[in-house]
Amino acid sequence: MTTSIKIFNPVIILDAIALKERLMSKIKTINGCWVWQGVKRKGGYGRIRINGKIFTTSRVSYELFVGHIPEGLFVCHTCDNPPCIRPDHLFLATHQENDQDKANKGRAKHGEQHWNAKLTTSEVVAIKLALKDYHFGLYKELALKYHVSERLIYCIRYGSRWARI
Ligand SMILES: [Zn+2]
Repeated sequence: MTTSIKIFNPVIILDAIALKERLMSKIKTINGCWVWQGVKRKGGYGRIRINGKIFTTSRVSYELFVGHIPEGLFVCHTCDNPPCIRPDHLFLATHQENDQDKANKGRAKHGEQHWNAKLTTSEVVAIKLALKDYHFGLYKELALKYHVSERLIYCIRYGSRWARI
């Protein structure tokens, strides 16, 4: 017997166990991250073809291991490592205006060496405090200061993961 799940829009019904196995066969554990070894798209996010459609592996992983991603929400990485698909490194951000392009530019500038940089709780607290007094260019300043991507700063501002901090 197979376990069928519905994922994404348009909805695809598929064998969740087979898809989990497929995902897990293409990762490598590096510094605690499950780093996708298959095809990647711009920005380092993994790509996977399911029933003829291309999906982002971090989103697939979230749907498979954590739960449904409501429409309009996007998946962020606490580890700031785009090819990582480890479910407990993923969280949702609730804000609609996901300025992907800008975030990608920020990452490109700061380089891949920071992908494994992780933030401590006190750093997240400090970032949240700083974000309360938002001004133009603040994401960039904080990204440089903490050696993470602008996208992660954005995710901390609008995300669910550190919502209680
Ligand atoms: Zn990770």
